[in-house]
Amino acid sequence: MLGGFKKTTKRNLLKGIPWRFGPNWPGKRCEAKTRKGKPCQRPAKLPVGRCRLHGGASTGPRTKEGLKKLADSKTIHGRFTKIEREKAKARAEQGRIIRSELKELEAWFIDHGYLKKDWRKDWAY
Ligand SMILES: [Zn+2]
Repeated sequence: MLGGFKKTTKRNLLKGIPWRFGPNWPGKRCEAKTRKGKPCQRPAKLPVGRCRLHGGASTGPRTKEGLKKLADSKTIHGRFTKIEREKAKARAEQGRIIRSELKELEAWFIDHGYLKKDWRKDWAY
């Protein structure tokens, strides 16, 4: 009857110590993967959804300095920060504009006889 329980839970139940979170407890359970590969199943702290052993007790950074400290500790080179990604987007857009202008120029030079249609072949190595 007590087969599915942890050793300590089983021991407590046999001693007559009641278990607040029995198998039919309707609350939210921790779904963190344990070393056995199964969900933890301990009662979870809301709204985190994890038990205190799996990060449920953490409130995360509470101040701006704390958040900055966390971000700094997790940032390796900063190439994927919001600002850098915006810069890369702008550079890509600039490249697209320049390439389209070059294409227009090439078409104009070909149309007006300044370039042969296959002028690129002369430049191939
Ligand atoms: Zn847990």
